[in-house]
Amino acid sequence: MYLILIFIIVLAIGLFSYNWKLKKKKTWVKPKVNFPAKWRTILHQEIPFYRALSTSEKEKFEFKIQEFLLNCTIIGVGTEITIVDKILVATSAVIPIFGFEDWQYVNLKEVLIYPGIFNTEFETEGPNRNVLGMVGTGYMDGKMILSQEALAHGFDNTSDKKNTAIHEFAHLIDKRDGVIDGIPTSLLHEKHLLPWINYMDKKLDEVFEGDSDINPYGGTNRAEFFSVTSEYFFERPKLLKKKHPELYRLLAKIYQQDVSKRDLSIDAEEVSRNTPCPCGSGEKYKNCCGSVTAN
Ligand SMILES: [Zn+2]
Ligand SMILES: [Zn+2]
Repeated sequence: MYLILIFIIVLAIGLFSYNWKLKKKKTWVKPKVNFPAKWRTILHQEIPFYRALSTSEKEKFEFKIQEFLLNCTIIGVGTEITIVDKILVATSAVIPIFGFEDWQYVNLKEVLIYPGIFNTEFETEGPNRNVLGMVGTGYMDGKMILSQEALAHGFDNTSDKKNTAIHEFAHLIDKRDGVIDGIPTSLLHEKHLLPWINYMDKKLDEVFEGDSDINPYGGTNRAEFFSVTSEYFFERPKLLKKKHPELYRLLAKIYQQDVSKRDLSIDAEEVSRNTPCPCGSGEKYKNCCGSVTAN
């Protein structure tokens, strides 16, 4: 009798500490230092979504960027990467989860940046290359691969409804419940689940046939439908709302963001050596983030 009791207690302690370890492992480290001024300047220059935020939202955005970069390694493979590339990756991670209280990409450890287009064998040269970004299971667990060119294009061209990095992060958000299937179960209230699935299934063929202004690749399957329409949602929210109000409504529910309310058309102010630094320091650009020695 006592033996059984002791056994149960030992088992309980074991399970408890195992659980605790799992939980501990899954928590991201929080940033402890100030957001670097130079990074702020990059956000101002490169990211329309950031420019459209209020002051307090900008602070929240910066915190999430810093948190992402602290907990996820970004490595160039066969290419040199800069802090701008890193901030573009982090931005693509943060934009889709900006509406959530506390989201951590615990299923992501590293992002590999390839110079350009690659194929499913991870070759960056030769024929049959048509992949711009990739996440997945098995070998790809905890990893993301992005083409450096496609990463930059996502933020250079902000009207073509294409943003490869946001596409891949949408897959990871979808994967939170275990499977990449276009149904982010953990995010959707039960009452919206069925309407979302019905909507996708109703539209898949139409999109695949190219009878829509949605990228036909989104018609491949539900998973791609979710990621492709997410690109559209974050890049051209006003247009999406006008052309596909039901789709917009459902995505706004999933992402808990009404992006169409944001003014993504605010241009980056022209920065010259003598204009105030975009980082907000009050210094001239040449004496602040524009100086070679500043950091
Ligand atoms: Zn995809
Ligand atoms: Zn500055």
